[in-house]
Amino acid sequence: MANVSRRNFFKTVTSGVLGISLAKNLKPSSLNAGGTQSESSPLKIQKYNNLGKTGIKVPDVSCGAISFFEPNVLRYAYELGVTYFDTAEGYMRTQSETFIGQALKEIRDKITITTKHPYSSRMQITKENVIKRLEASLKRMQTDYIDIAMVHQANDLAILKNEEIQAAYAQMKEAGKIRFTGFSTHNPTLTLKQALDNDFAQVILFIYNHMEGKEIEPLIEQVHQQGIGTVAMKVFAGGKHGNLKSLISQEVSYPQAAIRWVMSNPNIDCCIPTMSSYSHVEEYVSASGKPLTRADLKMIAAYQRQANNQYCRVSCQGCVSSCPDSVAVNDVLRYKMYFEDYRMESEAMRYYAEMRESKKPLNCSNCSGYCEKTCPFGLKVKSKLVHAHEILSG
Ligand code: SF4
Ligand code: SF4
Repeated sequence: MANVSRRNFFKTVTSGVLGISLAKNLKPSSLNAGGTQSESSPLKIQKYNNLGKTGIKVPDVSCGAISFFEPNVLRYAYELGVTYFDTAEGYMRTQSETFIGQALKEIRDKITITTKHPYSSRMQITKENVIKRLEASLKRMQTDYIDIAMVHQANDLAILKNEEIQAAYAQMKEAGKIRFTGFSTHNPTLTLKQALDNDFAQVILFIYNHMEGKEIEPLIEQVHQQGIGTVAMKVFAGGKHGNLKSLISQEVSYPQAAIRWVMSNPNIDCCIPTMSSYSHVEEYVSASGKPLTRADLKMIAAYQRQANNQYCRVSCQGCVSSCPDSVAVNDVLRYKMYFEDYRMESEAMRYYAEMRESKKPLNCSNCSGYCEKTCPFGLKVKSKLVHAHEILSG
């Protein structure tokens, strides 16, 4: 396919092909120098990999759809070669799935969709209600099948032993409504190991970035060798670059360096940075197929120096057992990250509102801060939690 400029894309969509208003975001490219495309380097995905042994080819740089305001951003990503889209029942209160359907239904057979549904021991889980939720996702996405249906945030694969869940997914697979299954996880150290003996795990979505994940690389290699598809998320290690002005460089874009770092691991099939805007699409697609450079590593080292005692590692539970109140420290700090660094204010507040009150940092102001003393990265945990509660409770 010929290279698609943003201008041509707008001409096409505004002439009514998609039938969706493009009132917003019609701005010139805001790429920094590091993200600018040269004439000889077309703005297109440059590399596709096998997704485990599913037989599906995925672009190295794929699309996370946790938050966006304009369905045509997804269509623009497709025009630039992005064919893998990751959504979830819970993203934007199901609106992400609806937008996926609106933007991509005409090219359904050319793309791969993953969607995710969470289950917990606190829920009443029956085969019927699991199927009902999967069917509702199909309806919202205006499709007959989900390519990869994942259990969302499976931090221990014990949840997959639930017979109702097993029966529901088996029935949907049998009916051709699900092609492959898998799970996403914030606890890859445990779950990647468990996945080696679990047939449900055909594709796994897990945290992997230059600040957390080194220790699970042998496990990633093992699952990959076993033919399980490997998809990396949270690749920007907290996404603090927008608030670290000193990282703005004339030579290297931090997001591109972070993507290239992740994709330099041959055992990762693709990564899914969140593509919320046209500029995100362009900047991230520009990283496709490019090797990690020395300049990238320099940028990453600068980020690590500045973010080391700011970034609460999403897969870390290091301080949780020290808290007498059992505050869910890293969930709260993850929502704070969504609010302040990802600029997903309303989503972050909604996630926080849905937390159990007993897991919130309601008494931190009166505590001597045991958590802080155990954080190996020197985070000022207590004050961060107090601040998180203030901003997230509105
Ligand atoms: S400040 Fe105290 S109550 Fe709050 S999370 Fe830390 S240990 Fe728990
Ligand atoms: S505050 Fe520190 S120890 Fe606690 S979860 Fe975050 S990174 Fe881990």
